[in-house]
Amino acid sequence: MKLSEKAEEILEALWIATEEEGENAAHFQTLGVGPGDDGLCELDRLAYIDIRGERVYLRQEGREEAKMTVRRHRLAERLMMDVLDIKGASGDAKACEFEHLLHQGVDTKICTLLNHPTTCPHGKPIPPGKCCLEAQARGEAGVVPLTEVNAGQQGEIAYLSVTDPKKMQKLMSLGVLPGNQLRLARTFPAYVFTVGNSEFAIDEDLAREIFIRKI
Ligand SMILES: [Zn+2]
Ligand SMILES: [Zn+2]
Repeated sequence: MKLSEKAEEILEALWIATEEEGENAAHFQTLGVGPGDDGLCELDRLAYIDIRGERVYLRQEGREEAKMTVRRHRLAERLMMDVLDIKGASGDAKACEFEHLLHQGVDTKICTLLNHPTTCPHGKPIPPGKCCLEAQARGEAGVVPLTEVNAGQQGEIAYLSVTDPKKMQKLMSLGVLPGNQLRLARTFPAYVFTVGNSEFAIDEDLAREIFIRKI
């Protein structure tokens, strides 16, 4: 059964408050709802939530759906920023609209296209789907920003999502290209890595825009 967009937004906020921020429930205010809210009633009817006063509890029955809603939102963010190059507030807003369309296997296709990313552009974890676990079992590691590679590790450059075209051009002209091997030497005070015979030192912001397939 497909939930309304409003119900999905509530579930998403509820998951973040309870699973990621350690609250045991979320207040109406946090969820942006009032008493008698349609989305809230919908979730209540499905027994996904418990409402006590103005506090909302996520029930066991609603956990999987909530987790998948968060997953769709963060996959939509990745798609917006990495592939469609829509960033900032407009990317956030579009991700919010787009996530509701990622049903019935579309999320799996996008996840596979993006090579099962583990984090959203804000660094929050993307709950893995079946496709991610299967890829993992086949030994295909996901794609992560350079900021999530440990010093001493190496990987293949999957793609660049650099905001500044001049920096992008400079990196690419020096061999920082998809498919090339990268070895990260240090992460502090700068990200120092080698590609081929060249050594690079970049700041964290730029490191966040280089995506690595771990091997
Ligand atoms: Zn995000
Ligand atoms: Zn996946």
